[in-house]
Amino acid sequence: MTDIKSLSFDELSEELSTLNLPRYRAEQIYSWLHKNGVSSFDEMTNLSKDLRAQLDEKYFISSCEIEEKYVSKLDETVKYLLRLHDGEYIEAVVMKYKYGYTICISSQIGCKMGCKFCASTLAGFKRNLLSGEMESQIHTAQRDLGVRISHIVLMGIGEPLDNFDNVIKFLRTVNDDRGLNISLRDVTVSTCGIVPKIYDLINEKLPVTLTLSLHAPNDDMRSRIMPVNDRWSVDEVIKACKSYAEQTSRRVSFEYTLINGVNDTTECAEELASKLKGFICHVNLIPVNDVEERGNVRSSDKAVNNFKDVLKSYGINATIRRTLGKDINASCGQLRRKKKSGD
Ligand code: SAH
Repeated sequence: MTDIKSLSFDELSEELSTLNLPRYRAEQIYSWLHKNGVSSFDEMTNLSKDLRAQLDEKYFISSCEIEEKYVSKLDETVKYLLRLHDGEYIEAVVMKYKYGYTICISSQIGCKMGCKFCASTLAGFKRNLLSGEMESQIHTAQRDLGVRISHIVLMGIGEPLDNFDNVIKFLRTVNDDRGLNISLRDVTVSTCGIVPKIYDLINEKLPVTLTLSLHAPNDDMRSRIMPVNDRWSVDEVIKACKSYAEQTSRRVSFEYTLINGVNDTTECAEELASKLKGFICHVNLIPVNDVEERGNVRSSDKAVNNFKDVLKSYGINATIRRTLGKDINASCGQLRRKKKSGD
């Protein structure tokens, strides 16, 4: 069966024309699905019962059920473990900032990338998410919290550029003013560095912010913690990011997770600064979130501050990521893994 929520407006119109339905029906149905975020045809009250039954026979509507929900007592961050129609689990996190609500969503069920510090890889890769399933994470959270979400980061479970077509469809859908109407300038796509897909993303001409998970200043060190680096080197990935910035006029960010004794020395910061010299970008420093089984220890506050100061002394814009939802294990991948192992 087809997920009607994962059809673009044009695809939906075409499908409905085969059922001899006029275009305004497509508009009504599209708005129920994307603006209202309904999860059943019965909620589409301006359609006849017959038509609802007809649609129900032919399509399903992707949606997420809240399986578990955690609210941080420290900062109101909300973390969800969500169940999809086939019983698989994904995670999403909503964070409150001064400028509005941001949701961190998953793009795949599990991940193939194998980064050594990350929990998402541990429970194995299952499948790509449909665009409707990415969007449903937003609808579910908005409905549950009674707020409008204005910003999206694709930093949950999965590698967005490994699910390229569905992610692009998702981006166009959330941007549609007949739906969620979210500005793509307020959307961040994070990647571990699948270089050809970064160039493909440039060609899509979408004004999203690109974030590259770099985590190390050279190939030796990066390959040890990120297997994807064996395929595309640090230099290749930085070059692709420079192209992205030039072609889209959007500033690129680099994520750099600091792991005690692995990548957090003054020499590492200096090497990173030399690699990024002359590139107007932003470096986000994140003390590693320790995941059981991974055994990575977060860098001391002193090492984190020192790393930032060294980058700044070379004129590189760097900030330390504020940790939100510390009391609820808000970083992604951990809940799905627990659920799978039956804890
Ligand atoms: N696959 C994408 C997006 C998902 S991960 C990517 O690699 O960018 C989102 C960010 O969280 C990435 O920068 C990732 O490297 C980082 N991350 C994963 N596990 C982490 C951990 N245990 N501590 C800190 N950051 C982590």
